[in-house]
Amino acid sequence: MTSTPLATRGLYIDGAWTEGQGTTAVPVLNPATEDVIAEVPEATPADVDAAVAAARRAFDDGPWPTMKPAERAKILGAMAEKLTRRRAELVELNIAEAGSTRMLADFLQVGTPIDHFVDMVERVLPQFPFQAPVPPVIGHGIGQGIVTREPYGVAALITAFNFPFLLNLAKLAPALAAGCTVVLKSSPYTPLEALVLGEVAEAAGLPPGTLNIVTGDVAAGERLTRHPGVDLVSFTGSDAVGRKVYAQGAESMKKVVLELGGKSANIILDDANLDAVLESVLAGIITHAGQGCALLTRILVHESLHDDLVARIVGTLGFISVGDPSDPATMMGPLIRDVQRRRVESLIASGVEDGAQIAFGGKRPAHLDRGFFLEPTLFVGVDNSMRIAQEEFFGPVGVVIPFRDDDDAVRIANDSRYGLGGGVWSADPQRAATVAHRLRTGMVVINGGGGGLNPAAPFGGYKNSGIGREFGEYGLSEYLQHKALQWPVK
Ligand code: NAD
Repeated sequence: MTSTPLATRGLYIDGAWTEGQGTTAVPVLNPATEDVIAEVPEATPADVDAAVAAARRAFDDGPWPTMKPAERAKILGAMAEKLTRRRAELVELNIAEAGSTRMLADFLQVGTPIDHFVDMVERVLPQFPFQAPVPPVIGHGIGQGIVTREPYGVAALITAFNFPFLLNLAKLAPALAAGCTVVLKSSPYTPLEALVLGEVAEAAGLPPGTLNIVTGDVAAGERLTRHPGVDLVSFTGSDAVGRKVYAQGAESMKKVVLELGGKSANIILDDANLDAVLESVLAGIITHAGQGCALLTRILVHESLHDDLVARIVGTLGFISVGDPSDPATMMGPLIRDVQRRRVESLIASGVEDGAQIAFGGKRPAHLDRGFFLEPTLFVGVDNSMRIAQEEFFGPVGVVIPFRDDDDAVRIANDSRYGLGGGVWSADPQRAATVAHRLRTGMVVINGGGGGLNPAAPFGGYKNSGIGREFGEYGLSEYLQHKALQWPVK
């Protein structure tokens, strides 16, 4: 396996690169080789304070929040263009630090977020209603006015390790488009793609202090989310940490947007075409080794199709090549760290203890002695009350649960503390849509949904999957305040 050696990089604060004030470096590992590929500074509280102060100055005194949207779009367009030029380099970084397979890195991890950024600049921003008229109430003496949408302020953006570039841009693009200034903290496992954003911002002429980037983990994140100089927090990560972030932000009444975990159901009705279903079911297990919040990991299948579907999944999982993610032939790479792999293994063990059966996998691949790999795994004999049906694995594990009829499928799907995504398969799209409307989740794909992530559709969840939405105009709205101005009717 090859790994990309990278120089040590610093923090990006107030338009300058700095090693920070601390002495601790965070090693960045390649999860497929376990090699240290870079070191970044662990931001100290003083570093975080300096980043927030820079963002505060840039918001309160700087040109960014008061620029016209078209002026902001020019600089953001230059950033998008520079990212497009560095796409190949970003793909290599993503494979090296996140362990993505080459195809996933090129498509969903790097290609899609650049496309969404371009969409934000070219479609969303020019047509967004930053001002709307308010009519008077005739006969009650209530005047007319306008509603303006103003940038929310200083935004702290905190992200997870699994899709680092996508998650960072899903926050950064709307935050900057809105006129906010930003402190970005990526996952300590995947800081390198975030630092490229600083280089690109600098080269595109983003005013100093508008984007600041700190590296670090819990301490830096906690400092940011409690900081009185921050107005809004947008967080992507686990619901356990999301709950803490919500409480930390509440102390100073910040707006908190949360994009959290999921345990999404893929519902296969009795008239579904299993040839079409199989690819989606496999994707729910093997995509990024199961490290995706919206992956469809609970496979709910009508009892009449259960045995046929299980035989097909098991028959195909044997052909999934697991190993070096930089090899274009590899279909599944590693988990991010050993601690994550052990967490998944312990949940697999709980499934066996609870009486479910492993139909495929469940172990570490025998042919790989380095890297945090695990076999793709399928459980059958699962009851929805088991831990393996209720908890997020964040590993390559699917669970199959049979159901009797559409009502039963909806009941099982909604019997979850999460509400992020879902899928429904049927030969009758109307019937599938009826089921989809009954699911308490933020997103549902019907018969495969036509492919990738639509930049014009909102991304986010119900229940413990979060609060708020990302992408397109929905994402942009999160970073804006509404101000009502009113004057007497003449
Ligand atoms: P995590 O919750 O462990 O960490 C996320 C981020 O929070 C990291 O940057 C971390 O340094 C920071 N952090 C940790 N403690 C903090 C604290 N007390 N205050 C502030 N920040 C703190 O998540 P993870 O392991 O990196 O990612 C996996 C989770 O993310 C899964 O649950 C997954 O479903 C979820 N996720 C959700 C979405 C979505 O859009 N809904 C997308 C990707 C991942």
